[in-house]
Amino acid sequence: MDTYEYDVVVIGAGGAGLRAAIEARMQGKRVAIICKSLFGKAHTVMAEGGAAAAMGNVNPNDNWMVHFRDTMRGGKFLNNYRMAELHAKEAPDRVWELEQWGALFDRTKDGKISQRNFGGHEYPRLAHVGDRTGLELIRTLQQAVVGLQQQDAREHGEAEGRIKVFAEHTITRLLKEGDRIAGAFGYRREDGGFVLFKAPAVVLATGGVGKSYKVTSNSWEYTGDGHALALLAGATLINMECIQFHPTGMVWPPSVKGILVTESVRGDGGVLRNSEGKRFMFDYVPDVFRPQYAETEEEADRWYTDPDNNRRPPELLPRDEVARSINSEVKAGRGTPHGGVYLDIASRRSKEFILKRLPSMYHQFKELADVDITAEPMEIGPTCHYIMGGVEVDADTQASIVPGLFAAGEVAGGMHGSNRLGGNSLSDLLVFGRRAGLHAAQYVDELGGNRPAVAQADVAAAEAEVVAPLEQSAGENPYTLHAELQQTMNDLVGIIRREHEVQAAIEKLAELAPRREKLAASGGRVFNPGWHLSLDMRNMLLVSECVAKAALERKESRGGHTREDYPQMSAEWRKVNLVCSVGPDGHAQVKKQPLPQMRPDLLDLFERSELKKYMTEEELAEPAAPSD
Ligand code: FAD
Repeated sequence: MDTYEYDVVVIGAGGAGLRAAIEARMQGKRVAIICKSLFGKAHTVMAEGGAAAAMGNVNPNDNWMVHFRDTMRGGKFLNNYRMAELHAKEAPDRVWELEQWGALFDRTKDGKISQRNFGGHEYPRLAHVGDRTGLELIRTLQQAVVGLQQQDAREHGEAEGRIKVFAEHTITRLLKEGDRIAGAFGYRREDGGFVLFKAPAVVLATGGVGKSYKVTSNSWEYTGDGHALALLAGATLINMECIQFHPTGMVWPPSVKGILVTESVRGDGGVLRNSEGKRFMFDYVPDVFRPQYAETEEEADRWYTDPDNNRRPPELLPRDEVARSINSEVKAGRGTPHGGVYLDIASRRSKEFILKRLPSMYHQFKELADVDITAEPMEIGPTCHYIMGGVEVDADTQASIVPGLFAAGEVAGGMHGSNRLGGNSLSDLLVFGRRAGLHAAQYVDELGGNRPAVAQADVAAAEAEVVAPLEQSAGENPYTLHAELQQTMNDLVGIIRREHEVQAAIEKLAELAPRREKLAASGGRVFNPGWHLSLDMRNMLLVSECVAKAALERKESRGGHTREDYPQMSAEWRKVNLVCSVGPDGHAQVKKQPLPQMRPDLLDLFERSELKKYMTEEELAEPAAPSD
């Protein structure tokens, strides 16, 4: 086993992990960055539309308060208000900083960083690089890491002495001494060798959980590792019932079902039509959003050129609303031949415009589906895209309830409430990645010489857990178990939930859990995907239990949690966070916890008539004192 000692170990090399690592290193800490993919291949690379930041470059009326309001509305007020506030205030600085580090954003005619429209954002707000923004974000952050390494080489004679990347390494356990984090254990994917990282602070930046679902826009890495590592280390998760089904995934051919079609298509003028050619979104504007959305096609179309005097097209409602509307159209028999609806930009924008603004989408459809999006509509439908739920953290420091454990990015919960607005993830990664790195470094400083030690018995237990699937001579096939899990989550805890179905999912998960312990992976430890999946199954099953149990508990519909049997939002449920932990039996358990109450100065940013749609009379009668 290779053993390393660091001050801060960052698990994940997407936007959140890299930003956290850079910050911790800039605070003078020795930092390890660990990722299970190749360096530079994190999920963040796939982000297309852009990073939301109220810079006001395209519409000067934009500012942090408008962004804060949009984020709270998008999350249906289940957000941790303090995270939404910090995010809205700090996102512009983080985007500027990225530009100073070398990111090449698209420009406005007068040379400013250009910003595009996206669902739920009142003004054009997404800083972007065509439809390849995530790639540029990762490229820039990687370059910053390399810059720090070059500096270390010059000043200390060792490039990797203070910040080092461990690519293709998977962490399977966090290790503690008493309550406090002491390190992390894992294996090298290439040869199966074991690795031990001794460190008093760990930042989880492992992304999401989409691979628990059959139809998803997520890549292979999204097996809920960080969520499960946190739970198994004694941390808590919140909002796990809230899963975002992006309205526009590819539906055809079957091999590419679920792959994302960026929201920029709608932001740049694309519209949704059913099989009768009707622009159906006008029929689905909910009351809470009615004042901000156009009622006629003429007004909606005028908005693209004159947003100050017209209301937004309903295609740009938050994602949960659009996904449910598509679902209803298909269910009503007005879907396309392959079970989606049409997304049409061909009849609305010139070929040149589409090729310039949406080059990746053009190639994606041409190469994967033989569809020319400059000439014909796309067939699209909802796909599991993002989990709003994640590690319960302190809003300012990103610290979990386990001392030394921090979380940032998609693995952290709270910021997006019940539904994330497009573009708010990339800015979330930068804002809270930086905060996690900063506060992890401060935590290490406060410890001084009093660092926790890793116990040999814990390392031995972690090793035994990892080799178990290789030592079973005959047992369950990991691919079969994975397929059963994905089908269960897709069918029973999907976009529309019903009590008896969620209950059935929980029963199925209880049946899969003991089968997981009998997983057998043939072959050895040298790059063995069956073995890797066997180990990932622990995480996906545990996280899916959290999702299903929280989905059963929350008896209302809000954002990324739609209950057919409780179709309305409930002001009482808005006051509640569902908190998941691991019970004594090793299974997920859910309990209710009060949501932090919004500060009066932030409440004042909203009309009271709007707040009444979300909050109880009693909450509105006495504005609460700050609760954190
Ligand atoms: P990631 O970038 O996923 O990184 C996770 C890292 O953790 C990886 O390096 C992985 O290897 C590592 N890891 C995971 N488990 C382990 C383990 N056990 N051991 C070691 N390493 C591990 N958001 C926007 O704001 N704007 C957009 O335009 C946008 N477009 C999107 C397009 C697509 C197709 C998709 C799928 C998502 C999009 N999103 C967008 C969402 C956004 O991209 C993600 O939420 C975000 O990139 C997550 O970043 P992260 O840093 O949290 O995690």
